[in-house]
Amino acid sequence: MTAGLISIIIPSYNESDNIDLIYKAVDKEFETLRYDYEILYVNDGSSDDTLSRIKKLAGANTNVKFISFTRNFGKEVALLAGFQHANGEAVIVMDADLQHPCSLIRPFLDGYEEGYHQVIGKRNRKGEGWLRSCLSSLYYCVINKCVDVQLEDGVGDFRLLSRKAVNGLLKLNEGSRFSKGLFSWIGLSQKVIHYDNVCRENGQSKWKLSKLMNYGIDGAISFNNRPLRLCFYSGIFVLMISALYIIVHLIMIMNNGIVERGYFTTISAVLLLGGIQLVSLGVIGEYIGRIYYETKQRPHYLVEEANIRRGPSSEADQ
Ligand code: UDP
Ligand code: MG
Repeated sequence: MTAGLISIIIPSYNESDNIDLIYKAVDKEFETLRYDYEILYVNDGSSDDTLSRIKKLAGANTNVKFISFTRNFGKEVALLAGFQHANGEAVIVMDADLQHPCSLIRPFLDGYEEGYHQVIGKRNRKGEGWLRSCLSSLYYCVINKCVDVQLEDGVGDFRLLSRKAVNGLLKLNEGSRFSKGLFSWIGLSQKVIHYDNVCRENGQSKWKLSKLMNYGIDGAISFNNRPLRLCFYSGIFVLMISALYIIVHLIMIMNNGIVERGYFTTISAVLLLGGIQLVSLGVIGEYIGRIYYETKQRPHYLVEEANIRRGPSSEADQ
């Protein structure tokens, strides 16, 4: 008798060389575990032969499930599809590129048996480029001052979630999904397990600097209206400085009469105000953009092919 079914969700975008490798690694790990498992690949519109590799694997192994999107919808959406279709009593989210070590599955399950609803893998930044490490540290430093939820450096999607946690996530139906924040938002008991960063061996990371920056902005904007408030405060700050400046100058004019002032003061005021106004407009625009997309109520993704139906996620509506 096994202890239960665990779903392993693997978002896959152009991971043709990794599909078999990750399956073998997971399968080997479960040989010595008391649980059954299903592995659920979400093919996120890959342009290489990722899908045919997955289908071949699914043909040979009944515990291999897949959903294939009509195009690339992004990892966040691929995770959502995984949660909606997973049948397990708990779910483990892993990347296809073997950067999330399968050796953590056992401690994840131990944490689950201890009663934790989220068992989280936290990596250090060994072997990572200095630019990306520095930018990440800076980002987390800033973002935690902006958002209500707590986001940690090194903590990503690699984690085990109990059925209760998955159902909680499925109640959050927003279009632009920032999973890191959503995982934190649902709360529930959490255990952190540390591991060493692993570098990708096959294929390439899909994260370019521009994509990372967009992701960063998503994180800051997705959770509350604090950036809007920041614009408001900077407006008040500039207003107060300007008022002070005007009062001091009025007094000087009253005492000494009008004197020709320098170019520097004028141009500084124009640039400062212009900058603050543009940033504020940008922030407001981000929020309006989100409202625009949310009001469209489009489905999060479209499925082209799958060998699995929606799982017990319907419980999430209860
Ligand atoms: N991924 C995805 N859709 C995308 C980009 C990435 O499903 O649009 C998957 C990718 O196949 C991998 C995981 O998300 O399994 C993490 O991607 P990647 O390794 O590029 O990210 P990094 O590890 O560099 O943060
Ligand atoms: Mg990776």
